[in-house]
Amino acid sequence: MAASKCSRLSGELSRRFLASVDTVLFDCDGVLWRGDEAVPGAPELINELKRQGKRVFYLTNNSTKTRVMYADKLGRLGFRAAAEEVFGTAYCTAVYLRDIVQFRGKVYLIGGRALSQELEGAGIPHLGPGPDPVTGGFSDWAGVAKDPDVKAVVVGFDEHFSYMKLNWALQYLQDPSCLFIATNTDTRLPLEGGRAVPGTGCLVRSVETAAHRKAQVIGKPSSFIYDCVVKECGLEPSRTVMVGDRLDTDIQMGSTCGIRTLLTLTGFSSLEDAKSHQENGSYSMVPDYYVDSVADLLPALSEQDH
Ligand SMILES: [Mg+2]
Repeated sequence: MAASKCSRLSGELSRRFLASVDTVLFDCDGVLWRGDEAVPGAPELINELKRQGKRVFYLTNNSTKTRVMYADKLGRLGFRAAAEEVFGTAYCTAVYLRDIVQFRGKVYLIGGRALSQELEGAGIPHLGPGPDPVTGGFSDWAGVAKDPDVKAVVVGFDEHFSYMKLNWALQYLQDPSCLFIATNTDTRLPLEGGRAVPGTGCLVRSVETAAHRKAQVIGKPSSFIYDCVVKECGLEPSRTVMVGDRLDTDIQMGSTCGIRTLLTLTGFSSLEDAKSHQENGSYSMVPDYYVDSVADLLPALSEQDH
């Protein structure tokens, strides 16, 4: 099995592969766009997949946008997309709390506007978003007046992350019954031109370090986002593929879920990374296939139609 992995998709192999797929799960950053620029040819690919009746879903670890904000961005960059096709960690965190743990209580949120809106949409009260200015000193911080209704701490991307917020999280998480949930653990957020900024993983590690606890992670490589797609939309695993740019999140999740995987080289991971996992026997991080860009699938897809 291992020897047949990591094949370049082109020509006849590409045509056979596309004919065997009904549902395509796409990561977004590094796959469909970089920062605010679409990967050339990616919108045409998505729109053609849909025109041919294939189902497309967007699975992203990024917690800075709601489903609606994602659908807006996709539309602006030329992709046909509906909010119901977007499974981001802001939305999936709210689903996890509402449907999986049937959460009753308030959330202390380290996160931004999108997470706040998705929690609101799920009817989950929360506090914490926005700046938290420094007041008092050590003994005030250790004795802050906690809200007794807070039963969970959620950590997502928060540009206002601070020592004050870290302290609130610690004070709540000292109660072992307080849930501890992280949207994702990506260490960096990649931007155009190879630039990057610190990702949510940096904030999560910081809270974990303070709390002496490990967060329950919603994002890839956890299978929870995939489970949300299955539950809400249904899919046939043998006719589904996960397309991503990261081996440790996208490809690992696809392997865990038992679906085929396709690495695209427009983002984070390289072909050398994949080969080195293959050599080390870490097969769950070796994709079944790879392409230089998702746009490489367009010629084979266009021929399907004839
Ligand atoms: Mg990505």
